[in-house]
Amino acid sequence: MSVPSPETPPPGPAGPPGLNPKWDLIVIGAGPAGLLGATRAAELGLRVLLIEKNRKPGVKILMSGGTRCNLTQATDARGIVEAFGPQGPFLHSALARFSPADLVELIEAEGVPTKREPTGKIFPASDRALDVQQALLRRLHRSGATLQLGVAVQEIVFEEQHRAFLVATESGPVSAQRVLVTTGGLSYPGCGTTGDGYHWAERLGHTVTPRAPSLVPLRSDQAWVQALSGLTLPDAAITLEVDGDERGSGARPRRSVGRDRASDRGGLLFTHFGFSGPAPLNVSRTLTLASPTAQGRLICDFAPTYDRTALDGDFLKRIASDGRRGAGCLVDDLLPSRLGDAVLAQAGLVRHLKLAEIGRVRLRALVEAIKASPVPLSGALGYEKAEVTAGGVALAEVNSRTMESRCRAGLYFAGEILDLDGPIGGFNFQAAFSTAWLAAEALAAGVNGERAAR
Ligand SMILES: Cc1cc2nc3c(=O)[nH]c(=O)nc-3n(C[C@H](O)[C@H](O)[C@H](O)COP(=O)(O)OP(=O)(O)OC[C@H]3O[C@@H](n4cnc5c(N)ncnc54)[C@H](O)[C@@H]3O)c2cc1C
Repeated sequence: MSVPSPETPPPGPAGPPGLNPKWDLIVIGAGPAGLLGATRAAELGLRVLLIEKNRKPGVKILMSGGTRCNLTQATDARGIVEAFGPQGPFLHSALARFSPADLVELIEAEGVPTKREPTGKIFPASDRALDVQQALLRRLHRSGATLQLGVAVQEIVFEEQHRAFLVATESGPVSAQRVLVTTGGLSYPGCGTTGDGYHWAERLGHTVTPRAPSLVPLRSDQAWVQALSGLTLPDAAITLEVDGDERGSGARPRRSVGRDRASDRGGLLFTHFGFSGPAPLNVSRTLTLASPTAQGRLICDFAPTYDRTALDGDFLKRIASDGRRGAGCLVDDLLPSRLGDAVLAQAGLVRHLKLAEIGRVRLRALVEAIKASPVPLSGALGYEKAEVTAGGVALAEVNSRTMESRCRAGLYFAGEILDLDGPIGGFNFQAAFSTAWLAAEALAAGVNGERAAR
């Protein structure tokens, strides 16, 4: 892709007298939000400069979904709003303008077919995140927006005299009357996301809510958990509880994700440090938002399709009818054998102990170990392993119908920099794309309105 110099923008109307900015809009950060925001604004007639500190745009797209890119979720706008919990309604206007179906259509129109998996996750049919990144770059290129790579923005200052933003970059200043900040959060800082945009937002008058790693693996020092490293359960129901002192200091409820308690059901992976997989990741924000050192426990139901009373009754029947068999037979139909051994041990049992010798107390303990095993947690991994950042630019200070700052006219935000974080499943990309699309349309309406009035 040829990249024109930022000093040679396409022809367009002159900027305000005195400063004469060459650009109608500067977009900072070429992740999904910046790429689509810049594209759409340029398509609507704006002279757009998109600045990215990495040498490659859309780095997180490339690594997403295990390099398969879980683009979005097979749901409607309401499904996305609900997944974001109390913060979700902020997305109403953005999703009304750019829904999951619109995103799929946009990517497919670039020659990248998509597929829906049974979980509702939508991926490129090729399973190649690269195809999605390339599709976005093709459209960006056609739009006429200028992409400047390998240049970090250092600061944004509003110059009252010229009523324009001065954007200081490593390669010199650029200016425009409008800026769209799409610098993402703090997760995976090696990708360029080092929270730069938060500082600019604060200096321009915004509140940035407390941030914490989200969709992040959980730590447990329990030897039996770590010994199961590598074992995956496709369906577990878990509840995370935060320890007393840490409760309620920051986490907001999301679906069943609450201030000091969060539940989810789905895949669970045992690791050498604790837990990973979709369900643990989805509840992690409740722990991390409570405090950086918060501890708690994960109550694990390893067989959520079985009712506790039915399981108890079934075990009793088998003990009565087949007392000479070993205790292992009780768990073999329910759980992978390594986990079966672990829950037997939790209940003080061993595989070869005869059913007739188990006794009522240990049987109850076994049902508890299967249905509600409380595993102490010693925290979570950090931003290096967090898929998103919880917290960010306070939503109350951003107009949800335009994505424009309520503190500073001409300043816009989209994507993960906002105080929005969704669960695993393509929700975060959708929010980034939708907020950017809406911002671009609002920006274009403003600029084109001004042009018409001149
Ligand atoms: C490993 C991993 C896997 C993921 N998988 C999925 C998935 O499958 N589905 C999903 O929905 N979500 C996924 N996510 C989350 C998703 O990637 C983010 O929510 C999304 O990328 C946010 O988009 P954004 O455009 O707001 O910010 P980002 O994608 O973070 O982009 C921000 C850009 O701004 C640039 N930038 C930052 N500071 C500056 C500066 N000072 N000057 C210039 N440029 C700057 C950064 O280099 C970066 O390119 C995943 C995240 C990770 C880390």
